[in-house]
Amino acid sequence: MRSTANRIRFPQGLFPELRNRLLQDSSQEAFALLFGQRHTIGDKTLIKVVAAHYPTVDDYESQGLAHLSLKREYIYAKTAEVQQRGDVDTLIDVHTHPFCPKGVAFSGVDDRDEKNFHSWLDDTLDNIHYASIVLSQSDYAARLWERKNGKSTAHSAQIKTQTVVENWPSAKETEHARTPKEMTELQTGFLARSALALGLDTLRQVMDNQTITIIGVGGLGSVIAENLIHSGFQSIHLIDPDCVEITNLNRIVGAYYSDAEQNRLKVEVVTQHLQRINPKAQIGAHPVGIEDESVLPILMHSDWLIIATDNHFSRYKAQELALRFGIPLISTGVNISVEDEQITDMSGEVIIARSGDGLCLHCLGRINPTQIAAEQHKGQFIGNELVRRGYVSGQDVKEPAVKTLNAIVGAMAVDVLLNQYTQRQAHVPVWVYENNGWPCFYPDNGSVLARQKNCFHCN
Ligand SMILES: [Zn+2]
Ligand SMILES: [Zn+2]
Repeated sequence: MRSTANRIRFPQGLFPELRNRLLQDSSQEAFALLFGQRHTIGDKTLIKVVAAHYPTVDDYESQGLAHLSLKREYIYAKTAEVQQRGDVDTLIDVHTHPFCPKGVAFSGVDDRDEKNFHSWLDDTLDNIHYASIVLSQSDYAARLWERKNGKSTAHSAQIKTQTVVENWPSAKETEHARTPKEMTELQTGFLARSALALGLDTLRQVMDNQTITIIGVGGLGSVIAENLIHSGFQSIHLIDPDCVEITNLNRIVGAYYSDAEQNRLKVEVVTQHLQRINPKAQIGAHPVGIEDESVLPILMHSDWLIIATDNHFSRYKAQELALRFGIPLISTGVNISVEDEQITDMSGEVIIARSGDGLCLHCLGRINPTQIAAEQHKGQFIGNELVRRGYVSGQDVKEPAVKTLNAIVGAMAVDVLLNQYTQRQAHVPVWVYENNGWPCFYPDNGSVLARQKNCFHCN
């Protein structure tokens, strides 16, 4: 599996917009300046792109087929703007080589100019980082600049978009060409029928370059994990601190009676199940809560986060991390209400919140702060008070759960994920499954329209 330690991640729609605007005139080079937010954990660095600025004609000193330069005042003004804003700390300069159809590379002039600019930036200002992107007509090269022992050096980076269809290939990391043996395996191996349905290109995207992290591997998460592995995903992380109990056996895929007797970890049991289906897949089992710092680098470099927990605190935390790192998120949930031994509601939903879509679990009203407080103070005075006053239900109330509902909603989550690759259907942010009068699926446009506008979290 290829992975670069350095990434630049775009919100939904921005990378195509950038390419269109900069490459519309192929007779001259063009420029844009992005503002980003840098996160470094261990040896991994991510720059989340926050905003794009396109200079006007007057901001250019000169512009031609194979050169450009910007007025100093423009660059100074933008640098000052980054300093003043509290939410960004990185300048990313983007320019084009419109004369280059494919296989773009930074030129010697680019190297010199960027090195000088980075040295100046680093000497002049504290904690403003620098990165750069160059675009040909069909691919890109990207790098981050660092100061080491007083010298500016560049490290290559990979661009990530919310959905693979919005991305372009990196000129540096030429696409991993499959050997004839690998191609035959794809067409005759265990994914042969998936290849027929999804197409080889989609399947290769799913297999080569995508890491999915599932938070919560109970009744929903285990079904999601199994559907992912059957769909060809090769890199999956599972996060869940809990062990298998006897009462879980009615719904956790891959969990056996002996697992409950031995009190084995859910992540361990589900990992084993996935590896039995596809021994080549790389499955990361993390028996911790999502708040544990050890999973941060994994979350930061995931392509999608899928929340499959019924715990409000972990949903809240997952949403916060998705927003912090700009990672697209899928949230799943199910509900069964029973009164007088009769089911009064059986339903589930799948929410897709990509960075840049302008919606999240907060503004959609799917995170309950009182519930989080109760979970955080479980067994303590505050938690007990919240229950006593009727703000939340008791923490030890066991919710009804059935496999069929989990299986339907879990499969639907993976189906809407695959649709982000195939784009067979238009994107819908909230899907609801209701099994009351009769079973039905529908897009919940009402929730989307009624969401709290100008959300503090996702805007
Ligand atoms: Zn150049
Ligand atoms: Zn929001």
